Amino acid sequence: MQKITIAIDGYSSTGKSTLAKQLAKALGYIYVDTGAMYRAVTLFAMQNGYIGDADEHMEDLVKALPKIDLKFVPNDSLGFSEMYLNGENVEKEIRQMQVSKHVSRISEVKEVRHKLVEMQKAMGKDKGIVMDGRDIGTTVFPDAELKVFMTASSQARAARRYKELLDKGEKVSYDEVFDNVQKRDHIDTHRDISPLRKADDAIEFDNSDMGLKEQFERLESIAKRYIANQ
Ligand code: C5P
Repeated sequence: MQKITIAIDGYSSTGKSTLAKQLAKALGYIYVDTGAMYRAVTLFAMQNGYIGDADEHMEDLVKALPKIDLKFVPNDSLGFSEMYLNGENVEKEIRQMQVSKHVSRISEVKEVRHKLVEMQKAMGKDKGIVMDGRDIGTTVFPDAELKVFMTASSQARAARRYKELLDKGEKVSYDEVFDNVQKRDHIDTHRDISPLRKADDAIEFDNSDMGLKEQFERLESIAKRYIANQ
């Protein structure tokens, strides 16, 4: 059966990654979490003092971009790939609140987007891929056969994210998480290059009141229909 490209975009903490990962597994497709790539560049910028709470040095980050090596390495026991930054597994660090605080700012930098979008296009050249992010259906794969745009209320998203961080043992307050979700939405939808927006031909999926099982079943049946119609 012919393979297709599936682009899943949407606001932060809509559960895109969980769903995209499950879908890729069910279809035998590759899964790529592009947020992890922006997060890894952000971690690199933080480690090297290019961004912090007080100041930022984006020109230095741009100069250092060739020194950033990003790789997704499969973890067979977990059943999915993990993000490696310059040879080191950074899966845990990139999900921390400090990285979430700076990532949307780093994602505004033209040269960062250029580097990551080129990598993402190369990963999807043979199709058979589920990629999630903010600009996949609009910029990375404008010709993707199936595009999904995920939304949920900011309260529902912040509550999910808050629980996720607490489960991981991070000490955060709900208000801090809610504020971060709103700030990222604002920067992501207002930036000059590839702002987050629903592609005209994307299917909108509001999952504020939907459990994971129902979301997955719906999405899987849509994807199978699209694949069968190729
Ligand atoms: O998906 P996740 O929440 O991990 O993404 C983190 C951040 O990375 C987003 O808030 C956004 O600023 C940025 N991002 C982006 N373009 C993508 C994926 C993520 O700008 N394709």
